[in-house]
Amino acid sequence: MLDKNIKYILKNIKNHGYEAYLVGGAVRSFLLGLDVSDFDITTNALPQIIEKIFKKTIPTGKKFGTITVIHENNSYEITTFRSDGHYSDGRRPDNISFSDELTEDLKRRDFTMNAICMDYDENIIDYFGGTEDIKNRVVRCIGDPDQRFNEDALRMLRAVRFMTQLGFSLDEKTRLSIVKNSFLIKHISAERIRDELNKILISDKPSEGIRTLIDTELMKYIIPEYMNTVGFDQHNPYHDKDVFEHTMEVLDNIEPKLNLRLAALFHDISKPECFTQDENGRGHFFGHHIKSAVLGKEIMERLKYSCDMIEDVRILIRYHLLKEIDMKDKGVKKFINNVGIERLDDMFSLNIADIKGKSSNAGFEKVEVLREKCRAIIENKEPLSKKDLNINGYDLEALGIEKGSIYTELLDKALDLVLEYPGKNTKEELTEYILSLINNKKGLDS
Ligand code: ATP
Ligand code: MG
Repeated sequence: MLDKNIKYILKNIKNHGYEAYLVGGAVRSFLLGLDVSDFDITTNALPQIIEKIFKKTIPTGKKFGTITVIHENNSYEITTFRSDGHYSDGRRPDNISFSDELTEDLKRRDFTMNAICMDYDENIIDYFGGTEDIKNRVVRCIGDPDQRFNEDALRMLRAVRFMTQLGFSLDEKTRLSIVKNSFLIKHISAERIRDELNKILISDKPSEGIRTLIDTELMKYIIPEYMNTVGFDQHNPYHDKDVFEHTMEVLDNIEPKLNLRLAALFHDISKPECFTQDENGRGHFFGHHIKSAVLGKEIMERLKYSCDMIEDVRILIRYHLLKEIDMKDKGVKKFINNVGIERLDDMFSLNIADIKGKSSNAGFEKVEVLREKCRAIIENKEPLSKKDLNINGYDLEALGIEKGSIYTELLDKALDLVLEYPGKNTKEELTEYILSLINNKKGLDS
């Protein structure tokens, strides 16, 4: 059943003597029985007429025919039938023109499932076999895929995104055309690529999308560094899968939060680069967490992710290696400091997904022990960082110590002491300790 607000809008336009249909994602979702969040309406009424018909409107993209109508605190995008002109840059039409023909408007849309209309009486109007394609769960271009991807290369990535989100397959002709035209994605801005990649990543089974990006070679142009992971044998008893297959398991096994999915995607990206084999032929990847954090950051910068997201993901990758963590209290405190209290749950989610992607099924005890240790330390409010120290730069100045890099060195050492012996975090104890360090230093210098 169509929502009463949509009914009102369609009826209102109809009563003024114009055609109006619900179109695109809303109809697609309706036919699939999915929730609908945004509603696009297409009409032969010109934008200025829509502005007259409705009380509250915003000229969102008036030049391109789109007016947003606000009704009962919801917004609805109403776009005049359009036909797109010539595409010379592989991104957007050089010009558009308004049309009086619904078919013209539907013809310019990307996929058959996105070109189905519904009128006020809930009749379906489907000129390109979209209903059948939805039934068969295929993403198919309208018209000649080569031409459609040449017009707008982003459509290739949209095809992979819809396929992944909906659990559809790609129509073979559409798929082959993506393989042939994948290089065209170079014309598309990083931001638009990023937005589609994000939708792939937070879908139910992101690995399907990532595999398709690899198979169609789109990945070669989006994240070329990723290609090295495919088929890279780890020569390690804990890993029955190559780097890529392991990563796909981690990706599917972590909650659909963008930061976690990005961290999963990039957590081992530098493994191939760090690979060594010992005398027994066993594979090692020393330092791969450090290199992967650097490379992941570089890729996310290129794809124009926000600084906060980049830093969040970088830290998750950098500290994902459980083997590296000294489980004594002092080591755990350093781990908390490095990761940040607010990021610990996400860190453990990555650790658990990482273990799920391995053959050994080592269990999650180590993660749970670490989680419990972190919890106890935080609950006891034990000092963790320099700001928790009961001594600071002013105190060092008062002791007559000359300012310079020695301040950092002394406070680092004081923190080291306090991480191991929290009871020593008093001004007296720390002053005494610092003076002993200075005296030792003087002794060594003379
Ligand atoms: P969702 O909102 O879930 O991403 P949607 O189908 O609503 O899905 P939008 O990007 O909101 O997708 O676009 C609305 C409609 O506009 C699409 O259904 C499609 O008909 C058309 N469309 C969007 N982008 C393109 C494009 N690059 N080329 C051709 N048609 C497009
Ligand atoms: Mg939409």
